[in-house]
Amino acid sequence: MRKMRFNADYQSRLISAVFNLLYPSVCPLCGTKPDHFIYAPICPGCWKSIQRYSGPSCSICSNPFSSAYGSLCASCMDKKPHFIKATSFGLYEDSLATAINLFKFHGIKRLSRPLGSLLLDHDMHGIDALVPVPLSIRSLRKRGFNQSLLLAHTIARTRNLRIISDGLIKKTETPPQLGLPAKHRLKNTRGAFRAVKNFSGMRVLLIDDVMTTGATANECSRQLLTAGADEVSVLTLARSSML
Ligand SMILES: [Zn+2]
Ligand SMILES: [Zn+2]
Repeated sequence: MRKMRFNADYQSRLISAVFNLLYPSVCPLCGTKPDHFIYAPICPGCWKSIQRYSGPSCSICSNPFSSAYGSLCASCMDKKPHFIKATSFGLYEDSLATAINLFKFHGIKRLSRPLGSLLLDHDMHGIDALVPVPLSIRSLRKRGFNQSLLLAHTIARTRNLRIISDGLIKKTETPPQLGLPAKHRLKNTRGAFRAVKNFSGMRVLLIDDVMTTGATANECSRQLLTAGADEVSVLTLARSSML
């Protein structure tokens, strides 16, 4: 038993040593050298600081509220979105935002596993398929991978769910949504996505890394419903506040 533990410890240290040799880096959040390759370059301490958001938020789109003054945000009150519910693990800030940026913009694809694992607690009972929010061909070529698809893979593997990654396409580039007024956000995304498969009778869980205004999730949901989906819900790692 002791020998086995020694071997496991030795193996783990060896992997970390090799990793640090190959990827000499320090944790971008605290400056220490990570001793665990799973989250690296983020150190285990900073990874553990990634927290689930449990404060007040809109009961449909999860837009965080500064105080618990109601159950719906102004946007959902004005017009209900096409998805039945959007859920985000945490807020797009601190260590979670850093991890997502390293994954997405610095090509550290192995972070898709620990990041995707944050979403495994979500109730997926009755879900027929996971649909990752697609990238345009241009963005996909530039990045080399679709971060939402990698997250969906982590979920699908553990929860034994089907992924439909070629049923929704992004036709045009859309500029970043943050800071734009609501009517411009909708105009930006309207017609940017198209469902190219039949989703008849399906309950779909749309997967994305960050939900900013909800306009992308809303337009993808509209397309999926047009293609026959029974209902669409949305799951993202982080929510950027619209405030
Ligand atoms: Zn750290
Ligand atoms: Zn809302």
